This record gives sequence, structure tokens and C-alpha cells, in this order.
Amino acid sequence: MTDQLPIPHDRRTSDAPDSAHPMRGAGARRRFLIGTLLVNLAALSIDFAVLDAPHLAFALGLRLLLVTPLVLLALVLNRRPDDRAMQSAVQATAVVAFALSVTAIGQFAPEPFAGRYMMAALFVIFAGALVSALSWPATKIMTVTGTVLYILITVTGLRWPPAWTNIDLVGLCIVTCVIALRARQRKDAQIAELEAIRRSDARLKRDLRQANAALERLSATDALTGVFNRRYLDELIEQEAASIVPSLGQSVLMIDVDHFKLFNDHGGHAAGDRCLQQIVTAVRRNLRSCDVVVRYGGEEFAVVLPGLDEAELHETAERLCHAVSDLKIPHPGLGGGRVVTISVGIAPAIPAETLADAIQRADQSLYRAKRAGRNRVSV
Ligand code: GH3
Ligand code: MG
Ligand code: MG
Repeated sequence: MTDQLPIPHDRRTSDAPDSAHPMRGAGARRRFLIGTLLVNLAALSIDFAVLDAPHLAFALGLRLLLVTPLVLLALVLNRRPDDRAMQSAVQATAVVAFALSVTAIGQFAPEPFAGRYMMAALFVIFAGALVSALSWPATKIMTVTGTVLYILITVTGLRWPPAWTNIDLVGLCIVTCVIALRARQRKDAQIAELEAIRRSDARLKRDLRQANAALERLSATDALTGVFNRRYLDELIEQEAASIVPSLGQSVLMIDVDHFKLFNDHGGHAAGDRCLQQIVTAVRRNLRSCDVVVRYGGEEFAVVLPGLDEAELHETAERLCHAVSDLKIPHPGLGGGRVVTISVGIAPAIPAETLADAIQRADQSLYRAKRAGRNRVSV
């Protein structure tokens, strides 16, 4: 029933964002592709320095007409989360094309540059497996394809009949491929483990928040009637006192069950409890959701009603009186067919008055209602 008002201090913390996102890895892929593009273009300067004219044209063709467009296309596709399979295929092709074009260009470079080209190509395959941020299946296909073609190019030297040179690089290339794939696999496993820890951490935090909120609600609630308890009202008063914003004043009603001791004495305490619950239900049914009902003492309730003028407040109090007498709960201590009633004291809002003072005024009004004969409203 404490849904009538949020608990005083909202101590909720913001939800941790969910890591499952369609664009996850897009940033890493973009950085990898931009790096690939820059290295591919920067390497042109080395091509210029070490290649003869016909082979320089061959290198320019590979770098500018094959690798660069593929990398650019992969970059464009990387911006579309719904085109993942196509993006993976293009990016994997771009990496393989880059590695193989470096290998191919190396076949026509004079020593010692040829060996450097081939080592650089091996490094591209290695880096592609580790940091390309492609899915595991795409990475496997890319690395194995790149390795097989690399071996083919380095062994044949792109000549017919094959030169059968650089055969020593085959072992190195296979080892590189295996190491790269193993490292990538281990990295993936670690990331998955980290994400599982993060998810369980977020779940724990959310459970803790919910438990805290439930506890807070419970500590502000009266067990018998479900309305706010006196501790909650005291907290409202404290908050108001601590606030630097001047109070606009609040309308308060003080409700007390008439002759309730007599009810208990004759009807028993359990019947008295049920009677209190019925009264609270009737009262709440006749209030707005923004009105705050507090069990102030045994059979006494305070109601804080924001934004009502004096006439409306009066009207509300009368409505509550009638709602309770209309329950027609027989009063066992009074006899003569008399029913349980309430008396209501009114304190219309006065600007700048504190809540504590408004409650005190309502209490004085209640005293007057009792003195005037009970089952009535008094200002
Ligand atoms: P008045 O019309 O002047 O208010 O008379 P009263 O008898 O209602 O007032 P009094 O303050 O003398 O008695 C209040 C009684 O309310 C005393 C106690 O038996 C009863 N009461 C207080 N808390 C509870 C409760 O939680 N359950 C029940 N059943 N009775 C309660
Ligand atoms: Mg009473
Ligand atoms: Mg009382």
C-alpha cells in the first residue's frame, strides 16, 4: 500500500548499460580498418624506394585498386549493424588481400627487402587474427585462407616454373597461424568470462537495489494498516527542516476513531484491529493518490494533502467522516445500534508554516471536534 508516495530518499542508482549491443566491436573494427588503410598507403613510399617501374605499377595496382577499395567498403559496411555477415566477409577479404599483396609485391623486391615484405605479410595475418574484431568463424577462415595462399605465393615466388624459394618460411607461417588463432581463442574466452562477471555483477546490484527499496518501503510502513508509519512522517518533517526552499505550507487532517478504547474493551483487540483496517481502507478510497496517510498513533491518523484550498479540505474531511460511518461497523461498547465513527481536525495550509506546526494545529482542531461531540469535522 506504500504505493501512495515514493519513499523519502530515492537512493536508486542508475542501471548499468547492457553490453549486448548490435554494434559491439564496431569501434575496434573501425580502428583496425583505418590502421590497415594507413599502413597500406604508407607502404607505397617503400614500394617507390625499392621497386623497379613495372613492379611499382603492379604494387600501385594492388594497393590502390584492390586493398584500398576493399578496406573502404568494409569501413562503410561496418556502420550498418544489420549487414554483419557481408561486413565480415568483406573485411576478411580485405585483410587477406592486404597480406597477400604485400607477399606478392615482396616477390619482386630485391633482397634484403623481399624478406622484409614477407615478414610484414606474416605480421598482417597475425594482427588480423588478433585485433580485427571479427567473429571467431570469420577469423578462422580469414587466417587459414591467408596462410595457405601466403605459403603458395612464397613457395612458388609467383613464377612459372615455380622458383621453390623461401620454403623455409612455410614452417614459420604455419606456426604464426596456429599461435595467432590460439591467442585469439584465449582472448575471446577471457572476454566472455569478463562479460559473464559483469552481467552477474549487474544482476547482483539490481537485486540489492530491489531488496533495499523493499526494505525502505517496509521500514516506512505500518504493519497493521499498510499506510505510512510515524517514522516516515518524522523523516518528512526532518527533510523539510533541512531544505533551503521555504515551505509553501501543507494542509493536514488529523483523524481519530471515536470511543475506540470502549470498542476494544467490548469487542476485543482483534476486532479492533480489523475495524482499524476497514477504516483505513475507507479513508484511502476517499483520498487522492498524492495524499499521504500516516498512522500517527494507536487509532489516530494524520493526512497530508498537497494543493487543496480550505473549502476543498473541509469537503474532503466531511467525506471521510461519512465514509467511515457509512461502513456501519457496529460499536459493541456504545449499544443502541450505534456505529464506529471518526472525528477529524482540519489545518488548512498556511504559507511558510512547517509541517510539524500544521500537524499541531490539526491536532488542536481534532480536540475541538471531540469536545463538540465526536463524529464531526472541526477547524
Ligand atoms: P476518543 O473518542 O476520545 O478518542 O476515545 P478513545 O477511546 O478512542 O481514546 P483513547 O485514547 O482513550 O483510547 C484509544 C484506544 O485505542 C486505546 C487502545 O485500546 C486502542 N488502540 C490503540 N492502538 C490500537 C491497535 O493497534 N489495535 C487495537 N485494536 N486497538 C488499539
Ligand atoms: Mg479515539
Ligand atoms: Mg486517540
